[in-house]
Amino acid sequence: MKELRYSVDFCVVGGGLAGMAAALGAARRGASVALVQDRPVLGGNASSEVRMHVCGAHGPNRRETGIVEELFLDNFRYNTRPTYTGWDAVLYGKVQYQKGVTLLLNASVCDAAMDGPRIRSVRAWQTTTQRWITVESKLFADCSGDAVLAPLSGADFRMGREGRAEHGESIAPLVPDTRTMGMSCLFQAREYPEPQPFVPLPWANLYTDASQLPHRWMDVFRTNFWWIELGGMVDSIADTETCREELLRISYGVWNYLKNHAPDRDRYANLALDWVGFLPGKRESRRYYGDHILTQHDVEAGGRFPDTVAYGGWSMDDHFPEGFYSQRHEGTIYHPAPSPYGIPYRSLYSRNVENLFCAGRDISATHSALSSTRVMATCALMGQAVGTAAAIAARDGLSPRGVYERRLAELQQTLMDDDCWLPGFRRGIPSVCSAALLRAGAGDPAPLRNGMDRPDDASDNAWAAPVGTPVEYVFPAPAALTEARLVFDSDLDRTDPSRADGQKKLLNMRYYVGLADAPFAPPATLVRDFRLETLDAAGEWTVAARVTDNHQRLARVALSAHCRGLRLVVERTWGCAEPRVFAFDCR
Ligand SMILES: Cc1cc2nc3c(=O)[nH]c(=O)nc-3n(C[C@H](O)[C@H](O)[C@H](O)COP(=O)(O)OP(=O)(O)OC[C@H]3O[C@@H](n4cnc5c(N)ncnc54)[C@H](O)[C@@H]3O)c2cc1C
Repeated sequence: MKELRYSVDFCVVGGGLAGMAAALGAARRGASVALVQDRPVLGGNASSEVRMHVCGAHGPNRRETGIVEELFLDNFRYNTRPTYTGWDAVLYGKVQYQKGVTLLLNASVCDAAMDGPRIRSVRAWQTTTQRWITVESKLFADCSGDAVLAPLSGADFRMGREGRAEHGESIAPLVPDTRTMGMSCLFQAREYPEPQPFVPLPWANLYTDASQLPHRWMDVFRTNFWWIELGGMVDSIADTETCREELLRISYGVWNYLKNHAPDRDRYANLALDWVGFLPGKRESRRYYGDHILTQHDVEAGGRFPDTVAYGGWSMDDHFPEGFYSQRHEGTIYHPAPSPYGIPYRSLYSRNVENLFCAGRDISATHSALSSTRVMATCALMGQAVGTAAAIAARDGLSPRGVYERRLAELQQTLMDDDCWLPGFRRGIPSVCSAALLRAGAGDPAPLRNGMDRPDDASDNAWAAPVGTPVEYVFPAPAALTEARLVFDSDLDRTDPSRADGQKKLLNMRYYVGLADAPFAPPATLVRDFRLETLDAAGEWTVAARVTDNHQRLARVALSAHCRGLRLVVERTWGCAEPRVFAFDCR
């Protein structure tokens, strides 16, 4: 068989949201990257193959920004009648056409070659080409969910739940065990104008009475069927195919129950089964041991780590390992967690394999902490942190731990510059801005250079003024500018107008397709067209750049100017009359 070889700075294994963010984050900061993904599409559990909507931190103004928000905003722009194929295309385009990334799809990593405590290369089998692919790299990130590189490299890892005494976690079981949260085969319904019969499949399970499905929330209009879950009592890697077979029998059986037997089946008369996932979406398997193990206590204490590089804010949503067969209420317990809590960098790399990062559900966390960190927007933040750290490490010849020891402040500032919020930290302002006079035609522009790019509990942290109002820096001496960096308002608390069903947050995708669904569009609060003007020695303002059809929160505009001032004028928004701007930097 022919063998392909690549040599890069940073090799990412697994193209879920964590792996994508790692690859994009590293490439944009200068590293050469290979992303090896065993499926034809990107997004992992968020992709069309599993169809789990992306969740993150609870609460007002807690939505994750950075790369994950960029993906959402692209989806609103390009996937207006939201379909999963449209979402797949958004994710694919981002990575396939990112300069510096080699995307290797349909390639499953199944081997690693070591140089002592370092991974030299990984080997993948590409099903579409019947070829082996070897990727040599300085640094690796395991974003495979199942932590495939742990057994292949000899990295320390764990599977199962810690006993209560181990870290003193009150929600942990008394004694350690090998149980995990399970996996699910989700389904999706589509609404039609007229009734849709469903003929049960002979091989599916038959449920004719509610007593066969106790304690389960079964409202197609309010939730998906995440509780059709198995694998927590067995090996959530080795037993996946056995679980898949049973999950499909259950899923088709539950759908038949809803259509033909449920007391409220009339509500579902016009719904048809649109899709069933044949690839189980997983919640938990191997977890790395890093320099820090994130615990329930860390989460509850708000994770105030000096090395915070990401944050969580989902409750500790600890599913019962019995899954579908659990007789207990709902299938999970939502233990409260603060939002946000910080996630430390030291949980994002292996403690004994020197060039190995991890991001996603396989990070160094206890089962209890994982029950919160595993949601995908949180995973994406961790991925971006790892990718950014990898770019710094590759540039300076450092290990992941070396970045902790020697470049932590740079890592944190770079993440904030790339629009990641690090709770408890403030972004540095370029000296050319802080030394300048800042004034606006209306409103108070001071928040534009306060280093906070979203509202917090104390302040809006924004400059707000009607469209057309100028805001400008006047420098004490002429300055050479190469870039303006702006942060607009993407409405972090946006809701879904077409669902008055309790699902308040607008998600990246909906869990069923309804006839009354509103199309997706960029948030009305976002700036669409704007111009930048520079001030010359004669005191004249001239247009240096004009941007039209912006649909992103973070906008970087290249400048080539030697000037005495820089002015921003918003010309149009996606709907609102008085846009908010969180940051206006130049350098
Ligand atoms: C039914 C269900 C409901 C959930 N509910 C929510 C929810 O509401 N919101 C939310 O945000 N999260 C939810 N989660 C959790 C979330 O989906 C996972 O924790 C998250 O997907 C983990 O992200 P990841 O990037 O680590 O892994 P994944 O999303 O699993 O991505 C890993 C990728 O790596 C690939 N891969 C694996 N092995 C290899 C290999 N050897 N070589 C190459 N590629 C490989 C996989 O195919 C996959 O695409 C749910 C999970 C499930 C199963």
